[in-house]
Amino acid sequence: MKIVIAASEVVPFAKTGGLADVGGALPLALEKQGAEVIVIMPGYRAVHNSKTQKVTLLKDGVSVSRLGKKINVYFIDNNKYFDRDGLYQDKTGDYPDNLDRFSYFCKESLELLKYLKFRPDIVHCHDWQSALIPVYLKTIYKQDPFFKGAKSIFTIHNIGYQGLFAKEEFPKLSLDWSVFNMEGLEYYNKINILKGGIVFSDLVNTVSQTYSKEIQTKEFGFGMEGILNKRRNSVFGIINGLDYSIWDPATDKHIFKNFNLKTVEDKDVNKEELQKFCKLPVKKGVPLFGIVSRLAEQKGFDILAEGIDKICKMDLQMVILGTGDLKYHKIMEDMVKKYPKVVSLYLKFDDTLAHRIYAGSDIFLMPSKYEPCGLGQMISLKYGTIPLVFKTGGLADTVNEKNGFVFSSYSKDELIRTIKFSLDAFKKRKSWNALMEKAMKCNFSWDESAKKYIQLYEKAKTG
Ligand code: ADP
Repeated sequence: MKIVIAASEVVPFAKTGGLADVGGALPLALEKQGAEVIVIMPGYRAVHNSKTQKVTLLKDGVSVSRLGKKINVYFIDNNKYFDRDGLYQDKTGDYPDNLDRFSYFCKESLELLKYLKFRPDIVHCHDWQSALIPVYLKTIYKQDPFFKGAKSIFTIHNIGYQGLFAKEEFPKLSLDWSVFNMEGLEYYNKINILKGGIVFSDLVNTVSQTYSKEIQTKEFGFGMEGILNKRRNSVFGIINGLDYSIWDPATDKHIFKNFNLKTVEDKDVNKEELQKFCKLPVKKGVPLFGIVSRLAEQKGFDILAEGIDKICKMDLQMVILGTGDLKYHKIMEDMVKKYPKVVSLYLKFDDTLAHRIYAGSDIFLMPSKYEPCGLGQMISLKYGTIPLVFKTGGLADTVNEKNGFVFSSYSKDELIRTIKFSLDAFKKRKSWNALMEKAMKCNFSWDESAKKYIQLYEKAKTG
């Protein structure tokens, strides 16, 4: 089966979040299942400045590199659109020409397939940035014999980001106005690119079973629940896997000391070094909470911010890594000033530090309000760092009372209650060690999920 993965971020070339982890791992997992895969993404500045990846020019406007040994990754280049520091935004907010940038990416991706003479069985698109590909396949390229039999899958990694643009920008899409209606790309007189992906793809998919149901409700659908309900027989959920060649405490090159189930006491070294690095008192008996996250309401920062003062008065330590809403930057900065021996804060994106937090913390705090899949909780499990989560989406599908701490009513009080509960559990060393062992034994490898994707592709092909 010939598969194209089109995504706006792919590890190890460019990353802002979980989509990149999937973009980098899924192609390799599909290849293991016997599929022929290529990847297409924008040629950002980060791609061309990479110190670790060899990127070469294929032709004017397209560069190429490799994922694993055999998978070609193609980059749609355009200095005007992609030679910038950010992927989607700068400090002032979203780039104003994002519609130009990603519609260009989608059009050129399809043209590239023709140039490469790569006739796909499946074009698998991810999030709004590549959502115009299914739209173009069903409109501009509908009669094109090259794409005869090509089916599109659209995966929603986060329905909260939809690519909304003013109606006046519609001509930029090179589409007929007839698709600008309630059954197409229109959403309350605006262009909604994600909606286009949902409507025009052959099958829709999300990154966990629970989230695939949740997005069909008003509470989680962000306005897309109606259109998803209409297509409910074509909406599926497959949990993301984790790339254990990157996320394994036994082999992780970033962490202070490697450990596995048999040498789990070496996790203490990681905790001690992390406490030193974070300028927190080196205390084995005080539970260290780790957060690696966007500082956003989605990630639970609203209830965390409400409760943080109370939380900081408890017998715990906390290290936070992430960037996001300035409002939450400020609240957390104030906490560091007020409780310097309790909270350590890093307002940046830092891959090495992220690995060290997963390895050195005792508890991983991820109280997301909604979470399509979530990778942080899966990573932390592997590192024996017990996740504390709100029961939603992929968190509900991967964390339970046997491997973590779960609260099921979204409020500051429930968060605080669950943190207190986890502090008590931490004191009982024997049962805590058993909990760590259970966590580390959890397996979310890509193999199972890749098999499910192949089944989904088959389903799309047979229509
Ligand atoms: P998201 O909704 O942001 O995609 P996920 O849990 O699916 O959330 O994935 C987040 C990924 O990004 C994880 O691999 C996490 O470790 C990583 N990450 C998030 N913030 C940072 C940061 N500030 N520095 C380094 N890695 C980060």
